[in-house]
Amino acid sequence: MRKIGIYGKGGIGKSTTTQNLTAALAHFYDKNVMIHGCDPKADATRIILGGMGQATVLDVLREEGEENVTLDKVVKTGFGGIRCVESGGPEPGVGCAGRGVITAINLMEELGGYPDELDFLFFDVLGDVVCGGFAMPVREGKAEEIYVVASGEMMALYAANNICKGMAKYAQRTGVRIGGIICNSRKVDKEQDIIEEFCEKLGTQMIMFIPRDNIVQKAEFNKQTVVEFDPEHEQAQAYKELARRIMENDNFVIPKPLSMPELEELVVKYGIV
Ligand code: ADP
Ligand code: MG
Repeated sequence: MRKIGIYGKGGIGKSTTTQNLTAALAHFYDKNVMIHGCDPKADATRIILGGMGQATVLDVLREEGEENVTLDKVVKTGFGGIRCVESGGPEPGVGCAGRGVITAINLMEELGGYPDELDFLFFDVLGDVVCGGFAMPVREGKAEEIYVVASGEMMALYAANNICKGMAKYAQRTGVRIGGIICNSRKVDKEQDIIEEFCEKLGTQMIMFIPRDNIVQKAEFNKQTVVEFDPEHEQAQAYKELARRIMENDNFVIPKPLSMPELEELVVKYGIV
């Protein structure tokens, strides 16, 4: 089983990309896949599950107590047989969301919720706050391979660089490696050049450039991934190609995060905003 963490700043497209990628792995390549959503928003598996509101691990834990958290309550199966679980979050303003990630992953392990027959287990993790909780999948070696979703925008690059800092810190001990940056386009000028130069400095690769296309919203409106909604569409084919590249990837490194002056140099060179 390959254990993969998808990181990136909030709103950058982690959940959209992860769900389309997993849908492609299941649909085009017949892989056995699971997604563990680690964003307190708990919307990381919605378009795999056809919009079903799923009970999160923290919901069940809070309402029924730890002894009553069972796999049949928190794991749901959606498109392509993809298993889905959501950590959930604390009530707004109460408690620590990062702590919730740790609790949920540990509980899933205790329950045997990540079965051996999986080909891929994906953790979809918020990357704005690199607090201990959100870094946990990296710090504790739960995710062995990381892909960061980024775009050519300043805040996306800044978050991606911070995630790489966190990874570099724990890489020796846990063996965690970056497998590449997924560019989820925001239609920024010279976006591919920006990401490629950023990757070169980090010592990794841009594994795929995913175009920005309204078919994503159209499919989302129908509570589906693009892969399910229109598998022959160019956008679905881009996710298929991302899936193929991840299956065949052998480029795993410890990232070398950029210093602030280096990041600023990139910003100035491309006029990034
Ligand atoms: P995150 O999980 O990183 O917070 P989401 O995956 O929820 O971000 O993405 C936010 C929104 O951006 C989605 O609702 C989706 O409509 C849109 N989006 C993401 N990727 C694309 C894309 N490649 N093309 C068009 N829209 C996209
Ligand atoms: Mg998300």
